[in-house]
Amino acid sequence: MKFADLHLHTQFSDGTFTPEELAGHGARLGFAALALTDHDSVEGCARMAAACAAAGIEFIVGAELTAEHDHTEVHILGYFLDTQNQTLLTEIARFQAVRQQRIREMVARLNKLNVPLGVESVFALANCKSPGRPHVARALVKAGLVASLDEAFERFLKKNRPAWVPKARMSALEGIDLIHQAGGLAVMAHPGLNRTDDVIPALVDAGLDGIECFHTKHSTVMAERYLEIADRFHLLVTGGSDCHGFSKGKPLIGGVKLPYEHVEKMKQAVAAKKSATTDAHR
Ligand code: AMP
Ligand code: ZN
Ligand code: FE
Ligand code: FE
Repeated sequence: MKFADLHLHTQFSDGTFTPEELAGHGARLGFAALALTDHDSVEGCARMAAACAAAGIEFIVGAELTAEHDHTEVHILGYFLDTQNQTLLTEIARFQAVRQQRIREMVARLNKLNVPLGVESVFALANCKSPGRPHVARALVKAGLVASLDEAFERFLKKNRPAWVPKARMSALEGIDLIHQAGGLAVMAHPGLNRTDDVIPALVDAGLDGIECFHTKHSTVMAERYLEIADRFHLLVTGGSDCHGFSKGKPLIGGVKLPYEHVEKMKQAVAAKKSATTDAHR
């Protein structure tokens, strides 16, 4: 059997592995295909593609967008994106700027709470264009201001905690269009985590291509539920670990193994879209 992991993060967003380290783990675990899905970034894809090629692993370009529909947060995964697409790159840059500004606001809140964290220490630690709350948490631990990442989230960074700042999100419908105009497939990420079932029909109407049925935080019951939903709405089935690095002493990659037949179906869907657009332009 061949397997894939289609949900992975590196240091180009809030993961802790380099693309080379991640591809190395993927090779050791015997994966046939990997997709990189950093938050609001495709920057790590060139290095990940090279590392996967060297390890004999098929690589799929991806990204994870934070979006919303009807006030519900929805993460949208884009696959087979054209990393040179100017509209995609412009929008990604806009959301990276939003992320950086949010870091400044969260640090300002911490400072008001008499937590003396310097914003430059967060940016230095993040060392990427797509920083997020995990970087603030790691900087707090590094500065000795909290004992653990959990404490950082519990005391300060979780939703509605005193240093939490809501993130400006694109509309899910715009996110789907953005992915499509860049040649990609749009997939709803971890629906069981965001409790986004109610918005599935609207996103399907907007052209959603797939749904992430297999995810580290999905139970077997949840996976079965989303497989049934995929069937009902004729959606592609995807899955991945959402690995951000080590978890409880082990790399999280390896915990979710998507049967490769789903990757085949995704490739067929991309090819069908491509030939449909070529026909339309003839
Ligand atoms: P952001 O995109 O900045 O809102 O950060 C979201 C990321 O923070 C997620 O991808 C998780 O990796 C991480 N995260 C969210 N909540 C927690 C939590 N309670 N404990 C640890 N990490 C969390
Ligand atoms: Zn993340
Ligand atoms: Fe997510
Ligand atoms: Fe993710």
